[in-house]
Amino acid sequence: MARRFIVKSQDIVKNEEQMMEILGEEVKHIQVLRFNVGDDIVINEYNCKILEMRRDRILLEKLSLVPKNGEPNLELTLYIAVLKSDKLDFVVQKAVELGVKKIIPFFSHNVIVKLDEAGKNKRREKLDKIAKEACKQCGRTDEVEVLNFATFKEVLSSMKEFDVNLFAYEKEKESIDYVMKTIKEQPCHTISCIIGPEGGFTSDEAEDLSNEDHVKIVSLGERILRAETAALNIISIIMYELDK
Ligand code: SAH
Repeated sequence: MARRFIVKSQDIVKNEEQMMEILGEEVKHIQVLRFNVGDDIVINEYNCKILEMRRDRILLEKLSLVPKNGEPNLELTLYIAVLKSDKLDFVVQKAVELGVKKIIPFFSHNVIVKLDEAGKNKRREKLDKIAKEACKQCGRTDEVEVLNFATFKEVLSSMKEFDVNLFAYEKEKESIDYVMKTIKEQPCHTISCIIGPEGGFTSDEAEDLSNEDHVKIVSLGERILRAETAALNIISIIMYELDK
């Protein structure tokens, strides 16, 4: 496959049947790599040919769709509490490799990281870049989105959008094994999993979350896992059991 570039949707200024026009950092990247008019490259899921190269934009002919590979059948969204930066970077990278479709970092009572608006934007852009690099590295055709930081209230109100939400709670006794068995008996295409911060969830948060529609509380075993371990654990279980 020709060299592949992942262009954010907001940097695709034209996307018609046969043509595509792109802006942004990937244009610079293509220029730095000395690609030229007539060269074949891949933009997201399209095999393309470069038609025009301008200073800040590139016009391409869309030749064909790249056969999808590396994309799971189920849409798994990871809600991950805002962990200390190296841990959150690690979770985002591994979640992409394991097949997560969307990642939503959130703030809850025990999150120790403090970020103002500018800090949130900067942090999200970095996480988005990590997700893009991980997509390229593991050969996924679709872009994995890292969405804006959510409040806990926003997490609660988004639960109804999913067929099922698996809430990993360190104080829960009900094993995930039983819950997975019940889920497999019902149609389930959109799933979310929710992982708390280093300081865990408060009992009020656990109460509020478990009262939301389609939320199932699960234990990941008797040992208390670090948030980053719990995230990889629950994603692997869901993908193993449900991504058929
Ligand atoms: N500091 C807390 C644990 C927080 S671990 C304490 O010592 O109790 C961070 C997150 O990982 C938790 O909020 C939960 O979402 C998940 N997690 C860790 N161990 C878990 C377990 N055994 N079962 C379910 N979730 C777990």
